[in-house]
Amino acid sequence: MIPLSVPAVSEATMPYVARLRVDPAAATDEADAVLVVEDEEGPSFSGLHGLLTLEGVCADALEGDVMLVQPDTGRAERLLRHGSSHNTLLVTERCDQLCVMCSQPPRKTHVDRFALFEQACLLARPNIVIGITGGEPTLYKDDLFGLIERVGTVRPDIEFHVLTNAQHFEASDVDRLRQDVFRRVSWGIPLYSNEPARHDEIVGKTGAFDRLQRSFHVLLLAGARIELRTVLIQDNIDHLPRLARLVASRLRFIESWSIMQLEKTGFARNRWAGLFVDHKVGFEPVAAALDYALLHGKAVHLFNFPRCTVPAQYRALAPASISDWKRKFAPACATCREQDQCCGFFEWHPDEHANAWISPL
Ligand code: SF4
Repeated sequence: MIPLSVPAVSEATMPYVARLRVDPAAATDEADAVLVVEDEEGPSFSGLHGLLTLEGVCADALEGDVMLVQPDTGRAERLLRHGSSHNTLLVTERCDQLCVMCSQPPRKTHVDRFALFEQACLLARPNIVIGITGGEPTLYKDDLFGLIERVGTVRPDIEFHVLTNAQHFEASDVDRLRQDVFRRVSWGIPLYSNEPARHDEIVGKTGAFDRLQRSFHVLLLAGARIELRTVLIQDNIDHLPRLARLVASRLRFIESWSIMQLEKTGFARNRWAGLFVDHKVGFEPVAAALDYALLHGKAVHLFNFPRCTVPAQYRALAPASISDWKRKFAPACATCREQDQCCGFFEWHPDEHANAWISPL
Protein backbone atom coordinates (compact mmCIF):
# COMPACT_ATOMS: atom_id res chain seq x y z
CA MET A 1 0.00 0.00 0.00
CA ILE A 2 1.29 3.46 -0.88
CA PRO A 3 1.44 5.62 2.29
CA LEU A 4 -0.70 8.75 2.00
CA SER A 5 0.43 10.10 5.37
CA VAL A 6 4.03 10.07 6.62
CA PRO A 7 5.77 11.13 9.84
CA ALA A 8 7.01 14.70 9.55
CA VAL A 9 9.14 17.07 11.59
CA SER A 10 8.58 20.72 10.75
CA GLU A 11 9.85 24.06 11.99
CA ALA A 12 6.39 25.56 11.45
CA THR A 13 3.78 25.83 14.18
CA MET A 14 0.66 25.96 12.00
CA PRO A 15 -0.58 23.60 9.22
CA TYR A 16 0.55 24.59 5.75
CA VAL A 17 0.64 23.36 2.17
CA ALA A 18 3.86 22.84 0.24
CA ARG A 19 4.81 21.29 -3.08
CA LEU A 20 7.99 19.22 -2.87
CA ARG A 21 10.77 19.66 -5.39
CA VAL A 22 13.84 17.46 -5.71
CA ASP A 23 15.09 19.52 -8.66
CA PRO A 24 15.54 23.19 -7.57
CA ALA A 25 14.99 24.29 -11.18
CA ALA A 26 11.42 22.95 -10.97
CA ALA A 27 10.55 25.33 -8.10
CA THR A 28 8.35 28.02 -9.62
CA ASP A 29 6.04 28.95 -6.77
CA GLU A 30 6.72 30.36 -3.32
CA ALA A 31 4.94 27.30 -1.91
CA ASP A 32 7.59 25.01 -3.40
CA ALA A 33 9.93 23.41 -0.83
CA VAL A 34 13.25 22.23 -2.26
CA LEU A 35 15.27 19.17 -1.22
CA VAL A 36 18.35 20.17 0.77
CA VAL A 37 19.58 16.83 2.08
CA GLU A 38 18.58 13.17 2.19
CA ASP A 39 20.13 10.94 4.84
CA GLU A 40 19.12 8.13 7.19
CA GLU A 41 16.59 10.49 8.85
CA GLY A 42 14.83 10.88 5.50
CA PRO A 43 14.63 13.72 2.98
CA SER A 44 14.62 17.32 4.23
CA PHE A 45 13.07 20.14 2.26
CA SER A 46 13.43 23.88 2.74
CA GLY A 47 10.68 26.35 1.90
CA LEU A 48 8.62 29.30 3.04
CA HIS A 49 7.77 27.60 6.35
CA GLY A 50 11.31 26.49 7.17
CA LEU A 51 12.73 23.00 7.22
CA LEU A 52 10.59 19.90 6.77
CA THR A 53 11.90 16.36 7.30
CA LEU A 54 9.84 13.37 6.20
CA GLU A 55 10.32 9.77 7.30
CA GLY A 56 9.69 6.47 5.60
CA VAL A 57 9.71 7.67 2.03
CA CYS A 58 12.48 8.69 -0.36
CA ALA A 59 12.74 12.11 -1.99
CA ASP A 60 12.36 10.87 -5.57
CA ALA A 61 8.98 9.30 -4.74
CA LEU A 62 7.78 12.70 -3.51
CA GLU A 63 8.82 14.85 -6.47
CA GLY A 64 5.96 17.22 -7.30
CA ASP A 65 3.68 15.96 -4.52
CA VAL A 66 1.49 18.56 -2.85
CA MET A 67 1.66 18.00 0.91
CA LEU A 68 -0.40 19.19 3.84
CA VAL A 69 2.03 19.48 6.75
CA GLN A 70 0.52 19.27 10.25
CA PRO A 71 3.14 20.19 12.85
CA ASP A 72 0.71 19.51 15.72
CA THR A 73 0.31 15.83 14.82
CA GLY A 74 3.80 15.35 13.38
CA ARG A 75 2.37 14.08 10.09
CA ALA A 76 2.28 15.22 6.47
CA GLU A 77 -0.49 14.15 4.10
CA ARG A 78 0.26 13.54 0.44
CA LEU A 79 -2.83 15.39 -0.78
CA LEU A 80 -2.01 15.35 -4.50
CA ARG A 81 0.54 12.81 -5.67
CA HIS A 82 2.26 13.95 -8.82
CA GLY A 83 2.43 10.56 -10.54
CA SER A 84 -1.06 9.38 -9.61
CA SER A 85 -4.45 9.75 -11.28
CA HIS A 86 -6.16 8.89 -7.97
CA ASN A 87 -6.10 12.02 -5.79
CA THR A 88 -8.93 12.70 -3.37
CA LEU A 89 -9.49 15.39 -0.74
CA LEU A 90 -11.45 14.32 2.35
CA VAL A 91 -13.14 17.61 3.20
CA THR A 92 -15.19 16.45 6.16
CA GLU A 93 -15.90 13.31 8.17
CA ARG A 94 -19.42 14.40 9.11
CA CYS A 95 -22.36 12.89 7.28
CA ASP A 96 -26.15 12.99 7.64
CA GLN A 97 -26.65 9.45 6.36
CA LEU A 98 -25.51 6.19 7.91
CA CYS A 99 -25.24 3.68 5.07
CA VAL A 100 -25.12 0.06 6.21
CA MET A 101 -21.99 -0.59 4.13
CA CYS A 102 -20.23 2.77 4.63
CA SER A 103 -16.51 2.43 3.97
CA GLN A 104 -15.69 5.65 5.83
CA PRO A 105 -17.95 5.73 8.90
CA PRO A 106 -18.77 9.32 9.81
CA ARG A 107 -17.58 11.25 12.84
CA LYS A 108 -19.45 13.97 14.68
CA THR A 109 -16.63 16.50 14.53
CA HIS A 110 -15.48 18.61 11.57
CA VAL A 111 -12.09 20.20 11.03
CA ASP A 112 -12.33 23.00 8.47
CA ARG A 113 -9.42 22.64 6.03
CA PHE A 114 -11.06 24.13 2.93
CA ALA A 115 -8.55 27.01 2.69
CA LEU A 116 -5.63 24.56 2.77
CA PHE A 117 -7.29 22.31 0.20
CA GLU A 118 -7.80 25.31 -2.07
CA GLN A 119 -4.09 26.16 -1.88
CA ALA A 120 -3.30 22.53 -2.71
CA CYS A 121 -5.56 22.52 -5.77
CA LEU A 122 -3.86 25.65 -7.10
CA LEU A 123 -0.52 23.82 -6.92
CA ALA A 124 -1.78 20.70 -8.73
CA ARG A 125 -0.13 19.47 -11.89
CA PRO A 126 -1.90 20.43 -15.14
CA ASN A 127 -5.06 18.66 -16.34
CA ILE A 128 -5.68 16.72 -13.15
CA VAL A 129 -9.02 15.35 -11.92
CA ILE A 130 -9.33 15.96 -8.18
CA GLY A 131 -11.75 13.85 -6.17
CA ILE A 132 -13.64 15.42 -3.28
CA THR A 133 -15.19 13.15 -0.70
CA GLY A 134 -16.31 12.86 2.92
CA GLY A 135 -18.37 12.30 5.04
CA GLU A 136 -20.75 14.49 3.12
CA PRO A 137 -19.07 17.45 1.36
CA THR A 138 -22.32 19.36 0.75
CA LEU A 139 -22.85 19.77 4.50
CA TYR A 140 -20.41 22.62 3.82
CA LYS A 141 -21.95 23.57 0.50
CA ASP A 142 -20.86 27.23 0.45
CA ASP A 143 -17.26 26.31 1.23
CA LEU A 144 -17.34 23.57 -1.40
CA PHE A 145 -18.89 25.74 -4.11
CA GLY A 146 -16.47 28.57 -3.25
CA LEU A 147 -13.46 26.27 -3.57
CA ILE A 148 -14.65 24.96 -6.95
CA GLU A 149 -15.42 28.48 -8.23
CA ARG A 150 -12.11 30.03 -7.19
CA VAL A 151 -9.91 27.12 -8.27
CA GLY A 152 -11.90 26.63 -11.48
CA THR A 153 -11.51 30.29 -12.41
CA VAL A 154 -7.72 30.35 -11.97
CA ARG A 155 -7.13 26.76 -13.16
CA PRO A 156 -9.54 25.94 -16.00
CA ASP A 157 -7.51 22.79 -16.70
CA ILE A 158 -8.63 21.15 -13.41
CA GLU A 159 -11.72 18.94 -13.13
CA PHE A 160 -13.45 17.81 -9.93
CA HIS A 161 -15.33 14.63 -9.08
CA VAL A 162 -17.43 15.14 -5.95
CA LEU A 163 -18.97 12.22 -4.04
CA THR A 164 -22.20 13.43 -2.44
CA ASN A 165 -25.39 11.96 -1.04
CA ALA A 166 -27.22 14.83 -2.80
CA GLN A 167 -29.41 15.64 0.18
CA HIS A 168 -28.66 19.36 0.23
CA PHE A 169 -29.12 20.85 -3.26
CA GLU A 170 -31.78 23.56 -3.34
CA ALA A 171 -33.60 25.39 -6.13
CA SER A 172 -31.62 28.47 -5.10
CA ASP A 173 -28.41 26.66 -6.17
CA VAL A 174 -29.40 26.39 -9.83
CA ASP A 175 -27.96 29.71 -11.02
CA ARG A 176 -24.69 29.11 -9.22
CA LEU A 177 -24.38 25.60 -10.59
CA ARG A 178 -24.98 26.85 -14.13
CA GLN A 179 -21.65 28.70 -14.12
CA ASP A 180 -19.01 27.46 -16.54
CA VAL A 181 -16.72 26.23 -13.74
CA PHE A 182 -19.32 23.62 -12.79
CA ARG A 183 -19.20 22.10 -16.30
CA ARG A 184 -15.91 20.64 -15.08
CA VAL A 185 -17.51 19.01 -12.04
CA SER A 186 -18.96 15.50 -12.01
CA TRP A 187 -21.20 14.63 -9.06
CA GLY A 188 -20.99 10.98 -7.91
CA ILE A 189 -24.37 10.24 -6.31
CA PRO A 190 -25.49 6.96 -4.71
CA LEU A 191 -28.87 5.41 -5.42
CA TYR A 192 -29.36 1.94 -4.02
CA SER A 193 -32.86 0.90 -5.02
CA ASN A 194 -35.83 1.88 -7.16
CA GLU A 195 -37.95 1.46 -4.02
CA PRO A 196 -37.88 4.52 -1.73
CA ALA A 197 -38.24 2.51 1.48
CA ARG A 198 -35.37 0.17 0.58
CA HIS A 199 -33.06 3.04 -0.39
CA ASP A 200 -33.91 4.86 2.86
CA GLU A 201 -33.26 1.71 4.86
CA ILE A 202 -29.83 1.20 3.25
CA VAL A 203 -28.72 4.80 3.80
CA GLY A 204 -30.23 4.94 7.30
CA LYS A 205 -32.32 8.06 6.70
CA THR A 206 -36.10 8.32 6.33
CA GLY A 207 -37.08 10.43 3.33
CA ALA A 208 -33.64 10.26 1.72
CA PHE A 209 -34.99 8.85 -1.57
CA ASP A 210 -37.57 11.63 -1.94
CA ARG A 211 -35.00 14.29 -1.03
CA LEU A 212 -32.66 12.82 -3.62
CA GLN A 213 -35.33 13.22 -6.32
CA ARG A 214 -35.62 16.92 -5.42
CA SER A 215 -31.86 17.28 -5.77
CA PHE A 216 -31.92 15.49 -9.13
CA HIS A 217 -34.45 18.08 -10.27
CA VAL A 218 -32.12 20.90 -9.19
CA LEU A 219 -29.11 19.29 -10.84
CA LEU A 220 -31.07 18.62 -14.03
CA LEU A 221 -32.10 22.28 -14.23
CA ALA A 222 -28.47 23.28 -13.69
CA GLY A 223 -27.21 20.94 -16.43
CA ALA A 224 -24.99 19.18 -13.89
CA ARG A 225 -22.98 16.10 -14.82
CA ILE A 226 -23.98 13.10 -12.70
CA GLU A 227 -22.38 9.70 -12.19
CA LEU A 228 -24.92 7.50 -10.44
CA ARG A 229 -23.45 4.92 -8.04
CA THR A 230 -25.00 1.70 -6.75
CA VAL A 231 -23.10 -0.54 -4.33
CA LEU A 232 -24.26 -4.15 -4.54
CA ILE A 233 -25.42 -5.74 -1.32
CA GLN A 234 -27.82 -8.56 -0.50
CA ASP A 235 -30.54 -6.00 0.28
CA ASN A 236 -30.61 -4.54 -3.23
CA ILE A 237 -29.26 -7.15 -5.65
CA ASP A 238 -32.75 -8.29 -6.69
CA HIS A 239 -33.83 -4.68 -7.23
CA LEU A 240 -31.08 -4.05 -9.75
CA PRO A 241 -33.06 -4.81 -12.96
CA ARG A 242 -35.88 -2.51 -11.80
CA LEU A 243 -33.38 0.15 -10.81
CA ALA A 244 -32.02 -0.08 -14.37
CA ARG A 245 -35.51 0.71 -15.66
CA LEU A 246 -35.66 3.77 -13.41
CA VAL A 247 -32.23 4.90 -14.60
CA ALA A 248 -33.18 4.47 -18.26
CA SER A 249 -36.55 6.21 -17.93
CA ARG A 250 -36.67 8.88 -15.21
CA LEU A 251 -32.91 9.45 -14.83
CA ARG A 252 -31.97 9.67 -18.49
CA PHE A 253 -29.99 12.84 -17.82
CA ILE A 254 -27.26 11.04 -15.86
CA GLU A 255 -23.91 10.76 -17.62
CA SER A 256 -23.05 7.25 -16.40
CA TRP A 257 -24.08 4.54 -13.94
CA SER A 258 -21.47 2.74 -11.85
CA ILE A 259 -22.46 -0.58 -10.28
CA MET A 260 -19.96 -1.20 -7.51
CA GLN A 261 -18.82 -4.28 -5.61
CA LEU A 262 -18.58 -4.01 -1.84
CA GLU A 263 -15.41 -2.86 -0.04
CA LYS A 264 -14.60 -4.85 3.13
CA THR A 265 -13.82 -1.95 5.39
CA GLY A 266 -15.73 0.46 7.62
CA PHE A 267 -19.19 -0.85 8.53
CA ALA A 268 -18.96 -3.62 5.90
CA ARG A 269 -16.03 -5.21 7.69
CA ASN A 270 -18.12 -6.76 10.44
CA ARG A 271 -21.29 -7.10 8.34
CA TRP A 272 -19.63 -8.84 5.38
CA ALA A 273 -21.53 -12.13 5.65
CA GLY A 274 -24.87 -10.32 5.60
CA LEU A 275 -23.98 -7.85 2.85
CA PHE A 276 -21.60 -9.35 0.29
CA VAL A 277 -23.05 -10.68 -2.94
CA ASP A 278 -20.92 -13.15 -4.89
CA HIS A 279 -21.68 -11.94 -8.40
CA LYS A 280 -19.51 -14.71 -9.83
CA VAL A 281 -22.12 -17.31 -8.91
CA GLY A 282 -25.18 -15.11 -9.34
CA PHE A 283 -24.56 -12.64 -12.13
CA GLU A 284 -28.11 -12.73 -13.56
CA PRO A 285 -29.50 -9.57 -11.87
CA VAL A 286 -26.34 -7.64 -12.78
CA ALA A 287 -26.52 -8.88 -16.38
CA ALA A 288 -30.20 -7.95 -16.65
CA ALA A 289 -29.47 -4.44 -15.35
CA LEU A 290 -26.50 -3.99 -17.68
CA ASP A 291 -28.44 -5.24 -20.70
CA TYR A 292 -31.32 -2.88 -20.02
CA ALA A 293 -29.12 0.16 -19.38
CA LEU A 294 -26.97 -0.49 -22.45
CA LEU A 295 -30.00 -1.12 -24.64
CA HIS A 296 -31.28 2.31 -23.62
CA GLY A 297 -27.99 4.03 -24.38
CA LYS A 298 -26.71 4.51 -20.82
CA ALA A 299 -23.00 4.35 -20.11
CA VAL A 300 -22.58 1.76 -17.36
CA HIS A 301 -19.50 0.46 -15.53
CA LEU A 302 -18.65 -2.30 -13.08
CA PHE A 303 -16.34 -0.88 -10.40
CA ASN A 304 -14.37 -3.13 -8.03
CA PHE A 305 -15.24 -6.21 -10.10
CA PRO A 306 -12.10 -8.33 -10.75
CA ARG A 307 -12.28 -9.08 -14.46
CA CYS A 308 -12.02 -12.86 -14.18
CA THR A 309 -15.13 -12.91 -11.95
CA VAL A 310 -17.21 -11.26 -14.68
CA PRO A 311 -18.67 -13.17 -17.67
CA ALA A 312 -16.56 -12.53 -20.77
CA GLN A 313 -19.23 -10.55 -22.62
CA TYR A 314 -19.38 -7.95 -19.80
CA ARG A 315 -15.67 -7.79 -19.00
CA ALA A 316 -15.08 -4.65 -21.04
CA LEU A 317 -17.32 -2.82 -18.54
CA ALA A 318 -14.99 -3.66 -15.62
CA PRO A 319 -12.04 -1.22 -15.65
CA ALA A 320 -9.07 -0.94 -13.28
CA SER A 321 -11.19 1.14 -10.92
CA ILE A 322 -9.48 0.74 -7.53
CA SER A 323 -7.13 3.60 -6.63
CA ASP A 324 -3.44 2.75 -6.99
CA TRP A 325 -2.59 3.46 -3.33
CA LYS A 326 -5.07 0.88 -1.98
CA ARG A 327 -5.00 -1.76 -4.74
CA LYS A 328 -3.41 -5.19 -4.54
CA PHE A 329 -3.42 -8.37 -6.57
CA ALA A 330 -3.54 -11.96 -5.40
CA PRO A 331 -0.37 -14.06 -5.95
CA ALA A 332 -2.11 -16.03 -8.72
CA CYS A 333 -2.74 -12.78 -10.63
CA ALA A 334 0.93 -12.76 -11.65
CA THR A 335 0.13 -15.14 -14.52
CA CYS A 336 -2.94 -13.23 -15.72
CA ARG A 337 -2.86 -11.58 -19.16
CA GLU A 338 -5.38 -8.91 -18.13
CA GLN A 339 -3.82 -7.68 -14.90
CA ASP A 340 -3.06 -4.24 -16.33
CA GLN A 341 -6.77 -3.75 -17.13
CA CYS A 342 -8.06 -5.21 -13.85
CA CYS A 343 -9.09 -3.49 -10.61
CA GLY A 344 -7.61 -6.29 -8.50
CA PHE A 345 -8.61 -6.05 -4.85
CA PHE A 346 -8.67 -3.51 -2.06
CA GLU A 347 -5.60 -3.82 0.13
CA TRP A 348 -7.81 -4.92 3.04
CA HIS A 349 -9.62 -7.67 1.07
CA PRO A 350 -8.93 -11.10 2.65
CA ASP A 351 -6.29 -12.98 0.63
CA GLU A 352 -7.96 -16.32 1.23
CA HIS A 353 -11.17 -15.10 -0.41
CA ALA A 354 -9.32 -13.45 -3.32
CA ASN A 355 -7.24 -16.57 -4.00
CA ALA A 356 -10.26 -18.84 -3.95
CA TRP A 357 -12.34 -16.49 -6.12
CA ILE A 358 -10.12 -15.75 -9.09
CA SER A 359 -9.27 -17.67 -12.27
CA PRO A 360 -6.39 -15.96 -14.10
CA LEU A 361 -7.21 -15.09 -17.70
S1 SF4 B 1 -6.58 -13.18 -12.11
FE1 SF4 B 1 -6.21 -11.31 -10.95
S2 SF4 B 1 -5.56 -9.79 -12.46
FE2 SF4 B 1 -6.52 -11.47 -13.57
S3 SF4 B 1 -8.62 -10.85 -13.85
FE3 SF4 B 1 -8.54 -12.12 -12.00
S4 SF4 B 1 -8.25 -10.66 -10.32
FE4 SF4 B 1 -7.76 -9.59 -12.23
